Amino acid sequence: MTYSPPTLRDLARYWVSKGGVNLGVVGDTRHQVLGRSYHLGRSNLRTDAYSRQTTRDRAGLTDAASAIDLGRLNGSLGHLRTFSVWLVKQCQANRPGTSDIREVIYTDDGKRVLRWDRERGVKSAPRTGEADNSHLTHTHVSFYRDSEKRPKVGVFAPYFAPNELAAGDDDGAAVQATKIIGFAGRILGAVLPEEDNTEGLFSGSATNDEVLIVGGTAAGNPNGVTFTVASAVAWWKEVFAAGLNVTKVRPTLLPGSKVLTEAGLAKARALATSSTDFAPEDYNPLGLEVVA
Ligand SMILES: [Zn+2]
Repeated sequence: MTYSPPTLRDLARYWVSKGGVNLGVVGDTRHQVLGRSYHLGRSNLRTDAYSRQTTRDRAGLTDAASAIDLGRLNGSLGHLRTFSVWLVKQCQANRPGTSDIREVIYTDDGKRVLRWDRERGVKSAPRTGEADNSHLTHTHVSFYRDSEKRPKVGVFAPYFAPNELAAGDDDGAAVQATKIIGFAGRILGAVLPEEDNTEGLFSGSATNDEVLIVGGTAAGNPNGVTFTVASAVAWWKEVFAAGLNVTKVRPTLLPGSKVLTEAGLAKARALATSSTDFAPEDYNPLGLEVVA
């Protein structure tokens, strides 16, 4: 049976911690019927599957899945598109870690599906007409199968850490511009997502915190979780949606209240006094890394 390897589970957790929706690593039934996908491992693949033909895929073929599907980022397909365009530029620039990425299937405009394939050359342009329209609402990333045990978070991380921009290469400026635009968009999206803010529960006041640490930080706190604005908003959204009382949750797992408006605070307080639906002591709905 196909399994999800720890390195891809780590990547999925990281994506979620940054406000992304994880749509999965292991292929669903439809993928299994087709038997071709990087979402499948050896026992579910046809022998002629494109995802097991290259030298690197043959060398690393196990029952591990080797692809991830990324959904909306901070509740927005636009932010997912910005990230995806950035990721393909990173691949084309052969940035550290990207040599393990076989292909990226995505959209840059919400209308056409593009596919970049490292097998065509690292600098090759993405092409249309190679994948179905489900990729208008999610981005697919395949990794060469010989990278199963190599960490993958480092490929995504620069997007979420704008101060770590590498300078000096040919298209550094273009990459930087894409990233800064994406970063600004993410902050805006994280704090003022239209559909999430209709009740006025979340505040924009935390946007000036460049490192996006809003509370419950792991810095100097041996049992903490590092929250971003986006993950703090996502955390409170979970609590509000489920109507939970969080008073029993370990303080070091809480994101603090900086992302809440007065209305948001009032709602949190009301739940803390009236809800009998208690979140457990180790409540961690986003699966964020806990520094023990
Ligand atoms: Zn996929």
